[in-house]
Amino acid sequence: MSDHTPILFPDDGPRATPGLVFVACAAEGGGGGGGAATQGRRREVVVSGRRVRTVDIHAHCAVPAANALVGRTIETDALLMADTRTRLRAMDEQGIDVEALSINPFWYPAERDVAEQVIRVQNEKLAEICATQPDRFVAFATVALQHPDLAVTQLEEGIKKYGLRGVSTGGSVNGLELADPKFHPFWAKAEQLGVLVFIHPQGTAELERTGRLAGNGLLTNTIGNPLETTIALSHLIFEGTLDRFPGLKICAAHGGGYLPSYAARSDAVQTTFPKRMTGTLKKRPTEYLRQLYFDSIVFTPEALRHLAAEAGSGQIVMGTDYPFPWTSTSVDHILGTPGFSDADKIAMLGGTAQALLKIPG
Ligand SMILES: [Zn+2]
Repeated sequence: MSDHTPILFPDDGPRATPGLVFVACAAEGGGGGGGAATQGRRREVVVSGRRVRTVDIHAHCAVPAANALVGRTIETDALLMADTRTRLRAMDEQGIDVEALSINPFWYPAERDVAEQVIRVQNEKLAEICATQPDRFVAFATVALQHPDLAVTQLEEGIKKYGLRGVSTGGSVNGLELADPKFHPFWAKAEQLGVLVFIHPQGTAELERTGRLAGNGLLTNTIGNPLETTIALSHLIFEGTLDRFPGLKICAAHGGGYLPSYAARSDAVQTTFPKRMTGTLKKRPTEYLRQLYFDSIVFTPEALRHLAAEAGSGQIVMGTDYPFPWTSTSVDHILGTPGFSDADKIAMLGGTAQALLKIPG
């Protein structure tokens, strides 16, 4: 689709420009909101005559100095933030105003003192990046969850000292589920601070060891990642973590993996095998999906429609997975999915994320 092409959608309520959803372009020459000069044009997303500040909840980056502390190299230079011109160009082309940066955890095996350094270096750098271009970047704090008491301190410091807007985690920690009681202090602190926890999977290491995900298709990632998210969320529900910390704000990557697409089975097991329920939940398992947030990386209009049917459109936040090119059309995916009101689209494109991440309107 050209940036200049108006897109028409069925109207579903009174508004200033009924049914018309369009995108416009603005020249971006280093002034305005662009920070560092970016070549090309910046796509501005407009819905019902209203400019929408779009937010990408799922954007990766890396801090090489932190990786070096544990002898790791960076997966791809596209993760680096030393020169953000390429990243900003992609954001401008895709109509992404703000990226919420996160770093996938590689430090979970690290001993306490090293983990402490890794997180300090990372969170300081993330704060610095965001301060340089505050209109384009916010970031999730990193924490050393393998040392839960340390993670609690790092979370509080990340939010209060460094001004980060939430916290990111993996889908498990050295083989332990996020629902493990060991992590209750972390969840308690996240709930107390009212910050968003972004859960990003790192595959299913246990299956990788068996070789079942080997072969063609990068199954370790293709299905291993969403599978880990499915397992993590299921335990958070069934082990009662979400009952224990009802105020938690959690966003799961990749549309929550497979859980929302087969959610009703989690209700059905309660009546099919009642004796296998080792704890009592306050709600039906599927009801918890309506308090979780999910990114929009589900690829098709039908998948997005279904996710909204299970979780509510107000629980969906746009994601891109930048710099990994799973998609470059996240804005159009939301704009082009039938059945959403303009208010729904505005919420998914950025409104909900803005509120969660305390990004000014
Ligand atoms: Zn990702």
